[in-house]
Amino acid sequence: MSAFIYNSPATRVLFGHGTRQRLKAEAERLNITRALVLSTRNQHSQAELIGAALQERYAGSFADAAMHTPVGVTREAMLTVETQRIDGIVAVGGGSTIGLGKAIALRTGLPQLAIATTYSGSEMTPILGQTENGVKTTLRAAEVQPDTVIYDVDLTLGLPVDISMASGLNAMAHAAEALYAPDTNPIIDLMAQEGLRALAQALPTIKETPREHTARASALYGAWLCGTCLGSVSMSLHHKLCHTLGGMFDLPHAAMHAVLLPYVIAYNRHGAAAAYERIATALGANDAAAGLQALSQRIGIPASLQTLGMPYDGIETAARQATVTQYCNPVAVTEKDVQALLKKAWHGESLA
Ligand code: NAD
Repeated sequence: MSAFIYNSPATRVLFGHGTRQRLKAEAERLNITRALVLSTRNQHSQAELIGAALQERYAGSFADAAMHTPVGVTREAMLTVETQRIDGIVAVGGGSTIGLGKAIALRTGLPQLAIATTYSGSEMTPILGQTENGVKTTLRAAEVQPDTVIYDVDLTLGLPVDISMASGLNAMAHAAEALYAPDTNPIIDLMAQEGLRALAQALPTIKETPREHTARASALYGAWLCGTCLGSVSMSLHHKLCHTLGGMFDLPHAAMHAVLLPYVIAYNRHGAAAAYERIATALGANDAAAGLQALSQRIGIPASLQTLGMPYDGIETAARQATVTQYCNPVAVTEKDVQALLKKAWHGESLA
């Protein structure tokens, strides 16, 4: 066994059915007396229910959270924080809402409680991506990681199937890249394999029967594990490419992860043979890349970057931009090879 460093995540996690009923006690534990409840517009009514559950600790809501954490939205939310004398954040939703909570915590140091209702994993990370003037910048800072995360399976039963599938694969991408991260360790390896297994088994069932409790619980459990992997170790080519394409073409975040993942795993195969095997085993497949693609097809993930709306003539620029800076990856990353990878993903080439 190689030497390793393991940092234990500082987040308190409550998992189960009906765990939102513990919200008020958890807010009290964090000394939150005037909570601001954050959500997207779609989830505003959910946010109001959460506010009601906080009783006298509820000070107001802000329902304009948006994908990629636009700095303009954060500024508006900050006005509410100041005028309402907010002393704690409760974010209910997916990565967009949790991102806004992190952005407020970064600027104020306020305690944060996240109620995660998708599988994207942001709630378990000290990572914040913010967008201003069309440029997305990402930072890692301990103070942006939520103090407490509540996973209530009941709140995920109505997560639309297409969002469930894409965000499930988004989570799997965190675990897959963790398995070949240069700074991984045995605990993260275990979490990554278990997270991949749980999601690979649960997603097809959710696709067929969206309100099936056991599969929903398994997917949320897998998402927690995969999010922990993302928060703990370095990500490589896949996350770099998604960051680049998301910024350049405004592609839907989770779906883009889902489309690209099999191609990046195939690209990295020869530099990460052990990880490749572990991914295949976790999926119950003979081959990791083909197994991921088969899972995507089975659960109705869009087949290509073309389907997501990426322009073909953007490939060259994207490959150039994704290779300007060096980052860790098990296989050397060249502009020419990334162009070839993106062309395959753009056409949706079969990896079988
Ligand atoms: P999202 O938060 O944008 O949610 C997608 C849609 O689903 C929204 O319209 C939301 O209102 C709706 N929704 C969420 N939960 C629901 C539920 N239970 N029932 C019904 N509707 C529900 O999607 P996402 O994929 O979770 O997050 C994407 C964002 O998160 C991106 O901005 C991405 O960059 C960021 N992200 C950040 C990290 C990190 O560690 N910093 C990790 C992953 C994703």
